[in-house]
Amino acid sequence: MIWDDEFSAEIESWDHAGLRRRPSVLASAAGRTCALDGRDVLMFGSNNYLGLAGDSRVRDAAMTATCQLGVGSSGSRLLSGNHALNEELEREIAAFKGAEAALVFASGYAANLGAIPALVGRGDLVVSDELNHASIIDGCRLSRAEVRVYPHGDARAAGELLSGERHKYRRAMVITDGVFSVDGDVAPLPGLCAVAESHDAVVYVDDAHGVGVLGHGGRGTASHLGVSGRPSLIEMGTLSKALGSLGGYVAGSRALIEVLTHQARSFVFSHGLPPGVLNSARCALRILRDEPDVVETLADRSARLRAGLGDAGLRVSPGDTPIVPVHVGDAGGATRLAGMCLDAGLYAPAIRPPTVPAGTSRVRLSVMATHTVADIHLAVKIISASAAKLGMIRTFAPGSP
Ligand SMILES: *Cc1c(COP(=O)(O)O)cnc(C)c1O
Repeated sequence: MIWDDEFSAEIESWDHAGLRRRPSVLASAAGRTCALDGRDVLMFGSNNYLGLAGDSRVRDAAMTATCQLGVGSSGSRLLSGNHALNEELEREIAAFKGAEAALVFASGYAANLGAIPALVGRGDLVVSDELNHASIIDGCRLSRAEVRVYPHGDARAAGELLSGERHKYRRAMVITDGVFSVDGDVAPLPGLCAVAESHDAVVYVDDAHGVGVLGHGGRGTASHLGVSGRPSLIEMGTLSKALGSLGGYVAGSRALIEVLTHQARSFVFSHGLPPGVLNSARCALRILRDEPDVVETLADRSARLRAGLGDAGLRVSPGDTPIVPVHVGDAGGATRLAGMCLDAGLYAPAIRPPTVPAGTSRVRLSVMATHTVADIHLAVKIISASAAKLGMIRTFAPGSP
């Protein structure tokens, strides 16, 4: 291909900078253990927080729907691709979230890319957290609204931006991840709702890592922080993480959902999800609704991991989520630590620049509700022994591995 020389040069530069990505290959169902790159690993690096991606009931739901209804949706949802399962899933999402209605998109990424430009455009203001997910950033760019970025998690700064700029614009929207994927910290939604409401603005929360994880029965970050149902709040989420399937959604008022149905281009100009995916998402949501204890189990395992790593002398951030970063500092150290863990059978990825600022590289562990207490102990043992060998633990707590 005539651009191959250019491409090769670019790829070589990534190699030099240590930024070349080579995706690991998964050859098993997603579970607490996985076959990754030809070896069995204890999985502490997935978004499969409730283990539902490999759950036999969810698999059966996919299989039944696929056998009865076929594979593809065969059309955009506004034409012939709106299978009844979409409507059922949307009703169930709305009921779960306590909203009037919901709309399902092909993915979480597609939901943000479609919903944000459907809600704001030229002449509107978006006030955005500096660590928001790429799909939010891309949705904002596509919207052509004016974007102002506030320092991470700083509701007061968001308020100051609104105070200074709100009057120049038609609509204003504060936008944030509910749970931030890099550190597992939680957005200050009560503060953001308060400043938004005092400036006639809305808050759009992307709860990709919050639904199924935080709040009453896994109802998400807004529920966790006591702001669900606030009229200023628009809740978006994904079916692909804790719910183990695929798809994104927005839940809210009937009028909001009607506007998105007409205006969200990623909804209008893309096929509906296949029946197997829709039915597996429905099944996962029902499991979450009927067995809310899994959310408590997840919180218990996450707390055990945080405590265990802390006791072993590692630097972990406090928090309520299953995302547990072990802070290393330099990128090489994080890569070596993750590599040693992998050699010992524990998969937990190194997170390095450009994902995080230089000097703040870490190994990030994500906990699953299906991890046993023994799995947690083993993970602590492997990572603390590896960190000790690399000279990353200065003070050894007595009794640690
Ligand atoms: C993962 C993620 C998405 C994308 O969701 P997909 O369903 O994987 O497309 C969007 N927003 C945030 C905050 C995410 O973490």
